[in-house]
Formats: sequence, C-alpha cells, structure tokens
Amino acid sequence: MMLERRTILAVDDTVANLDIIVDLLKDFDVIEATGGPEALEIVAEEAIDLILLDIMMPEMDGYTVCRKLKQNEKTKDIPIIFITARTEEDAIEKAYDEGGVDYVTKPFKPKELLARVKIQLEHQEMIEKLEFLASYDAMTGIYNRRKFFELAKRKFAENPDNLYAAMLDIDKFKHINDSYGHAVGDMVIKAVTRVIAENIEPDSIFGRLGGEEFAIICRHSDEVCVVEKLELLRKKVEELKIELVGGELVGCTISEGVAAADASTRTLDELLHRADEMLYKAKGSGRNRTIFRLR
Ligand SMILES: [Mg+2]
Repeated sequence: MMLERRTILAVDDTVANLDIIVDLLKDFDVIEATGGPEALEIVAEEAIDLILLDIMMPEMDGYTVCRKLKQNEKTKDIPIIFITARTEEDAIEKAYDEGGVDYVTKPFKPKELLARVKIQLEHQEMIEKLEFLASYDAMTGIYNRRKFFELAKRKFAENPDNLYAAMLDIDKFKHINDSYGHAVGDMVIKAVTRVIAENIEPDSIFGRLGGEEFAIICRHSDEVCVVEKLELLRKKVEELKIELVGGELVGCTISEGVAAADASTRTLDELLHRADEMLYKAKGSGRNRTIFRLR
C-alpha cells in the first residue's frame, strides 16, 4: 500500500497544532492551512486525499469549510476528519451531519490520530479500486458501457457544439466466433480495441458498449476531419492480422456510423441513436465502411 504518496491537508488556526500534525504525519505529504478560506483555495488547486479540519477558527469555522467542500462536485468526496477541542455530543453530531467521516479531539493521542488517518486513506484507496473495476471493461481495459455513458453525458452537458458520436461494430463477428471459437473472438475484440485506442485523439471517450460494439465521442471543429479520422480507424482495422496458434492469420473489418450534434440535438441518447442509424446503414450497404450523417 502506497499511502505515503497521499496528500493530506491540515487546517488549524493554531500553528502549534499544525506543527504537531506535520510531525506526526511526517511519512505523508502534508500541506498546511491556517484558515478556512486558505484551505478552500488549496483544495481548488491541489489534489488532496484527506483533510484534517479544525472546527473553531476565527474567519470561517470548520463546519462551514466542510459544507462548502461537500457542495462542490469536485471536492465532495474528499474525506474530512474533524479535529477539535470540543467534546460535547452536539458538536460531534454536527461534525458527522456536515459530512465528516471521523472526529478526533485535542489534545491528540498521536497513535490514535495516525491510526484514524491510515484507516481513512485505506478506505479511500478501496473506493478508488472499486470505482476502477466499475468503470473499465475487464477484457479490453477501455471504458465499459456505464462509464462511457457517464462521461459522454457529462461532455454533452458541458457543450454539445462540435460534438460527434460514432458507433462502431465488428463485421460478421458471429461468423468469427462460429469459425474459430470464442477465444479467437476475444482476441479479435482486444486487437480491434487496441488499434482504435492507439489511433484516436487523447480527449476522445472510447467505450465498449457490449459484445463487438463500441462507441466514440469526440469534439472537432471540422467534420471532414472527423470522417478522415474514422476512415483511418477503419483502414487500420482492415490491415490488422491476428496470428493464431499454428500460424493462421485472421482478419476482420468494422462498420462505422457517425452523427454530429447541433442546436436541435437535445440529448446524448438522441445523438447516439442517429449514429446508430448510420451504422445500420453501413451494415446494410456492404459493411467495412463509414457512413456520416450531416444534419
Ligand atoms: Mg482552532
């Protein structure tokens, strides 16, 4: 476990307390803040894995800092451990109500604080692992259907202008499975994925929607460019030769349907549906081709 690489933000208006925390957590990367506004600024700029937050501070109390962090989509998941001299039950209850994950009273018992910090960081690491498993397709390593839709919807919501959707499908995939078996079918899916992943723009969202079906969301200023890029993918896949045990070479092709978002496109689903219609056309008119619907 590489907890030492984690960054902890310690917030306390008493510098002596910060000194104790820094000393106690010397194996970690600790950033210090002496007030709420300063802490919020740091969180906006740095990747913080855990916050130790004093409650009583003159400018902005810890509860308020916590509330602001929880209201922000980008910072709401950072775990917060409140640290305070207050021991009344109401204060503790409020700390949890505001979204704190733990509560430590001053004066610190060093081993206790360290143990609580480690537990939260381990917890955080487990959540990240689960998030990874829930986001990536186990066979190909690209986004799975759930994550693809999550990211694509976000991109569409940010700004649908110049957004393109492509639906891709390996031609006659059933035939590959029937002729060579599923193990070879899997090899083909992996090889096609690799070729596409290596040849798309880094900011594209590329996911496996299921079986031999893939989708790409990308932003471009020029639709000629989009079609060129997709044609390049199609050609690269066409050139692909997968060598089987025994030396036989298996090839495959893909069909692609593309649609562009415009002012009349209300949802991502609508855009993908239009791309899917074009994919259907590509399949119906001979396969191994890209069909683009203008507006
Ligand atoms: Mg204080």
